[in-house]
Amino acid sequence: MIHIVGGGLAGSEAAWQAASRGVRVVLHEMRPVRPTAVHKTDRLAELVCSNSFRGDKLDNAVGLLKEEMRRLGSLVMRAADANRVPAGAALAVDREGFSQAITDAISAHPSISIVREEVERLPDDPSMYPLVVATGPLTSDALSAAIAAFVGGEHLYFYDAISPIVLADSIDMTRIFRASRWDRSLGDVRRGGPSGPPDASDGDYLNCPMTKEEYDRFWDALVTAESATVHDFDKERFFEGCLPIEVMAHRGHDTLRFGPMKPVGLVDPRTDRPSYAVVQLRQDNIAGDHYSLVGFQTQLKWGEQARVLKLIPGLEQAEFVRFGMVHRNTYVNGPRVLRDTWQTRRRADLLFAGQMSGVEGYVESAASGLMAGRNAAALALGGTPRVAPRTTAIGALAHYVSHADPGHYQPTNITFGIIAPPDEAAPRRTRDRKTAIAERALRELDAWMDEEKFVRSAGLQPG
Ligand SMILES: Cc1cc2nc3c(=O)[nH]c(=O)nc-3n(C[C@H](O)[C@H](O)[C@H](O)COP(=O)(O)OP(=O)(O)OC[C@H]3O[C@@H](n4cnc5c(N)ncnc54)[C@H](O)[C@@H]3O)c2cc1C
Repeated sequence: MIHIVGGGLAGSEAAWQAASRGVRVVLHEMRPVRPTAVHKTDRLAELVCSNSFRGDKLDNAVGLLKEEMRRLGSLVMRAADANRVPAGAALAVDREGFSQAITDAISAHPSISIVREEVERLPDDPSMYPLVVATGPLTSDALSAAIAAFVGGEHLYFYDAISPIVLADSIDMTRIFRASRWDRSLGDVRRGGPSGPPDASDGDYLNCPMTKEEYDRFWDALVTAESATVHDFDKERFFEGCLPIEVMAHRGHDTLRFGPMKPVGLVDPRTDRPSYAVVQLRQDNIAGDHYSLVGFQTQLKWGEQARVLKLIPGLEQAEFVRFGMVHRNTYVNGPRVLRDTWQTRRRADLLFAGQMSGVEGYVESAASGLMAGRNAAALALGGTPRVAPRTTAIGALAHYVSHADPGHYQPTNITFGIIAPPDEAAPRRTRDRKTAIAERALRELDAWMDEEKFVRSAGLQPG
């Protein structure tokens, strides 16, 4: 028998996977006994915000991850596919139908019992292990404190800050220059022609330089703009490392010039002088069509973000792919805490999954639950946990969480950038390259699954 705490995307998938392997599961979910600040129902796998599971094609990393999950018998994908609503190339779902389908499937499974209670600490009772903790970004306070004590307080975080992202095509390249800080080989992006691509050899950042007048106008707009105070937890203390820009601006006129807008080491080639302030943009996806504003996490209302950020030179016509946000997000420093099997480094029969394990997003959370559920089941059956190849999206996610740089750990969505690169012979065109990575991933996942079937048919536990 295994126990799972949290009946969200990850916990529900973990329960399904373990039960499908013949293991009895007790799923502890605190709603409705104890609500969260965001969930609205008592259904399992409630989608707290958007109803989109993002791209569904194989030239998209999350599309690949979804296809892998389908092949691995994912309940979340089965319910999502059955409740699909029209959304172009994306997979969006009827949110009520989706979580009802998950709730029905889990409730009807003869090997799963659901207990509606808050688990306040990591149990001492050895019979509660293997234990999967999948309590999500809004893990209850008592359990958060217990997890912090287990992993070490410095390895558990409570807020996530997201900077806005703009469409590259909407940036006025004639007003900005490309350079990395302290990079002497500066270049004007106009080298590629006014609308041509920036010359990537000249540094990794697009820099929007500001004069004193432009900075003053921007600062005035920022300190008078309206903030979104979505939930009470937004009023709580922020980590200094992810202060919203408007909070920094309120601390003093020059605080931003000494923070994310510092101009030092960035010489504008058109004036050959440092600017008064600089906003830096960093490429946000492999395709290079999205750029994020570096250090510009904000919780201004979205309309206000559109108004204020368009005062930045070069962004006057910017189209926002995503606005900035600061929200509660409880997650561990994956590489310090977890193995690539989603087991904790300190205790092999304790596994973390979902958003709190350091992944980001509905699909990624469910994917981590899928592997954690299988591995917890393997432990309960006396087998050995397994890891999917790094050439697959689901294996790459596990590798990132357990091997990324722990000094700068950030939760991640799945991207092609974290999947093992293809060999030299792979096509160079981005689209063809992605297709090659996806085809290899599915081939290798199938082989990995065949290996498991073979071991099982021989009457052994996978190991
Ligand atoms: C405000 C907000 C907006 C978001 N918007 C999006 C979005 O648009 N798209 C997206 O992909 N992701 C979004 N996310 C991230 C999203 O929460 C995750 O992608 C996904 O829900 C994570 O799945 P999970 O299973 O880890 O957590 P959840 O789905 O949150 O499930 C965790 C479950 O654990 C339960 N629980 C918590 N503590 C305890 C306890 N002590 N005992 C028992 N049960 C407990 C909770 O009630 C909950 O049911 C958002 C998150 C927040 C906070």
